[in-house]
Amino acid sequence: MKRILVTGGAGYIGSHVVKMLGERGYNVLTYDNLSTGNPWAVVRGKLFVGDLANKNKLRKVFRDFKPDAVIHFSGAIVVPESISFPLKYYRNNVVNTINLLEIMEEFRVNKFVFSSSASVYGIPEIVPTPECAPLNPISPYGRTKLIVEKVLADISLSNSDFKYVALRYFNVAGADPEGEIGFAYPEPTHLVVRSLKVAKGEVNSLVIYGTDYPTPDGTCIRDYVHVMDLAEVHVIALEYLLDGGNSNIFNVGYGKGYSVKEVISSVERVTGKRLNVVEAQKREGDPPILIADISKLVKTFNWSPKYDDLDFIIKTGWEWELKFRR
Ligand code: UDP
Repeated sequence: MKRILVTGGAGYIGSHVVKMLGERGYNVLTYDNLSTGNPWAVVRGKLFVGDLANKNKLRKVFRDFKPDAVIHFSGAIVVPESISFPLKYYRNNVVNTINLLEIMEEFRVNKFVFSSSASVYGIPEIVPTPECAPLNPISPYGRTKLIVEKVLADISLSNSDFKYVALRYFNVAGADPEGEIGFAYPEPTHLVVRSLKVAKGEVNSLVIYGTDYPTPDGTCIRDYVHVMDLAEVHVIALEYLLDGGNSNIFNVGYGKGYSVKEVISSVERVTGKRLNVVEAQKREGDPPILIADISKLVKTFNWSPKYDDLDFIIKTGWEWELKFRR
């Protein structure tokens, strides 16, 4: 049974991947400092509470658990926050990742799946955006992801045994359709979860950041992928590496986009509630349109998503929201 170390396995995407790995028969261990994750979200395998800043703890985990591969989710993920607190992002996302990679090198663990982001493209010159599009991130968050991708490329040049897959996520939403886990960060800023909080009555109104973008209804367009489809791509990427696959980079999305207003309509349709919406200025660091070109992912793995339906994505998120009590 292969042994997989998952950093950030108590967080939103990580916990869904941990659940899937457990169900597929992997021996999985989560390493998480619980800064935004929750112990109850680790529904398969064990949780080791630790910070990536603590190399001694990490060493202990590598010595005892002897992972065959690492999937690395830990990191800070909010674009506007990265603009206000860049050092937090460079430390969390870059320095801590380097700590992890150093320990991997010490223990000769050579397979790595990395949570990258469409934010590495900045304002894409090509839409839908393929992996070969120019990389010009417009936020510290995006720059941290790009820096780690460069570090990974350099390690694989220096060590031919080191193989990685970087997954550039577009937008992620929804929850485990079985209702066991879902999004549970203390102060959600992302559009779908915030809209659901408004529908639930926990937040007064939904602010639309910018209505004069060069899009048909003036609001930003994003490619929303269901968290379980994204989880599946991690398992596919892991198995590709375990089978001897070469280092690679893939976009993950559905290849189509919805505007902020279309997401709000879907939330209203699914929840049966009308949202109190306020229009406001643009947020810094938001590209107008992010849609993935997923031909490489589809061709390489013959990938077909299971939940490619915005209303279904929102329905699973809503069911989770109704159930979730802090
Ligand atoms: N957005 C919004 N109101 C919110 C949260 C987000 O209008 O309360 C917009 C945001 O400006 C962006 C889109 O929704 O255009 C997606 O933002 P989110 O923060 O969900 O994800 P990001 O694309 O930044 O990763």
